[in-house]
Amino acid sequence: MQMPTASADILSRKAEIMARLRQILPENAVIDDPFETKAYECDALSAYRCPPLAVVLPSSTEETAALLKACHEMKVPVVPRGAGTSLAGGALPTADSIILGVAKMADVLETNYADRYIRVQSGRTNLSITGAVETDGFFYAPDPSSQLACAIAGNIAMNSGGAHCLKYGVTTNNLLGVTMVTMQGEVLEIGGAHLDAAGYDLLGLICGSEGQLGVVTEATLRILAKPEGARPVLVGFDSNEVAGACVSDIIRAGVLPVAIEFMDRPVIRAAENFTHAGYPDVEALLIIEVEGSEAEIKEQLDTITKIARKHNPVELRESQSPEESATIWKGRKAAFGAMGQINDYMCLDGTIPVSQLPEVLRRITALSKQYGLGVGNVFHAGDGNMHPLILYDANKPGDLEKCENMGADILKLCVEVGGCLTGEHGVGMEKRELMHSQFNAEDLEVQMAVKDVFDPDWLLNPAKVFPLNASEARRS
Ligand SMILES: Cc1cc2nc3c(=O)[nH]c(=O)nc-3n(C[C@H](O)[C@H](O)[C@H](O)COP(=O)(O)OP(=O)(O)OC[C@H]3O[C@@H](n4cnc5c(N)ncnc54)[C@H](O)[C@@H]3O)c2cc1C
Repeated sequence: MQMPTASADILSRKAEIMARLRQILPENAVIDDPFETKAYECDALSAYRCPPLAVVLPSSTEETAALLKACHEMKVPVVPRGAGTSLAGGALPTADSIILGVAKMADVLETNYADRYIRVQSGRTNLSITGAVETDGFFYAPDPSSQLACAIAGNIAMNSGGAHCLKYGVTTNNLLGVTMVTMQGEVLEIGGAHLDAAGYDLLGLICGSEGQLGVVTEATLRILAKPEGARPVLVGFDSNEVAGACVSDIIRAGVLPVAIEFMDRPVIRAAENFTHAGYPDVEALLIIEVEGSEAEIKEQLDTITKIARKHNPVELRESQSPEESATIWKGRKAAFGAMGQINDYMCLDGTIPVSQLPEVLRRITALSKQYGLGVGNVFHAGDGNMHPLILYDANKPGDLEKCENMGADILKLCVEVGGCLTGEHGVGMEKRELMHSQFNAEDLEVQMAVKDVFDPDWLLNPAKVFPLNASEARRS
């Protein structure tokens, strides 16, 4: 994957740049020792690495504004960073850029149960948002599997989702407002503690903008009352395609489970060995969760199990206790990590119409044979958001390139069947060049014109999202 050549001019001005940054932040919040910047040379797409020029860790919106203003004046690119769990290389630096990390900004600023919102600094982790309100009977719905580590900043930038987003929607459906600093150092308040806002839907534009338009320092998030109860059912099948057809039928029937998660054999085995979740020995496994009162749970599960039985499942097991439910979810949430223990892999993130699941799973198996690379599938099946994990050997020359080509073919397949290149991980650096297969030149031009408005010098998060040839004139 190509990255632009670092600016020799910026590299030669490093001492001057560092002196200016140290005028703004305390000594321990500016890092340029190569040993320490190593921790920031990649995100969770760890196949690609590049140490940044330096790392800055502001503690407030004001410090962030002063930093961005200084970097703008010195014409130094800035890469915003939350927790660095992006699987799309969204937080990958260039050698001539400054990483601006929001990890020191993690406070809860306000909690309002009457109006059902919480205002936090953007470096706060996803899971700790629910942690701050759960004893009062509330929760924050979007639940990426990385929720223990990932920051709300990255969730907003990538419009992240999770297992329970089938019912509650993704980040954009649960975000009410942000404080965002532009590259010029202006502080913008967008949205607020209310539904919708007058004028253009700028909040909708910011959510999912991948650090291209500004640095989000604070967020107002919708919180919800915890449901009365919830129960998952495990449904095992002897083929991926049949499991896919079952998902498609459940959605068509108009039932809305809170989650429908899919795992195939390699992932089931890895997750089972890692967490002992009690998963059955099957080719494909669905975890279908419903919630509500006991009567609502029973009614929904009756409909779902009736549909599942038509597909001749080899296993159909309802959770019998909250402890068993937690164990079932523990396995699913640990699935990516479990696969990482046994193999190098690249995690894709395409979205397809749910009705296309059986066909796409069949063609992924064919591509796996064609390329000679294994694939594990684990994904949010209810909303058609697929995560094929392509297994490769990072130490074998040529394997990464083979994996990249196979990944590109799978994502093009998602577009071909009426889906798109990303469901929740974003485009980042990983899918940048594939944007040509989803958008024509005019579409890309309109999107880049939006960036021109917020960041006319194209200094924020360079070389991401837009194909290098399409953005070259602007970047240079
Ligand atoms: C094991 C594992 C499981 C995962 N599961 C899921 C999942 O279920 N669902 C899902 O959606 N994702 C998942 N992800 C991907 C990742 O966790 C999400 O994309 C997450 O939102 C990234 O958050 P982060 O704080 O780590 O952001 P980072 O990786 O630090 O950055 C991500 C992007 O956000 C931008 N950014 C960061 N901070 C700011 C800011 N303050 N202002 C503006 N832009 C900013 C960065 O420039 C970058 O483009 C998973 C990742 C891993 C490793």
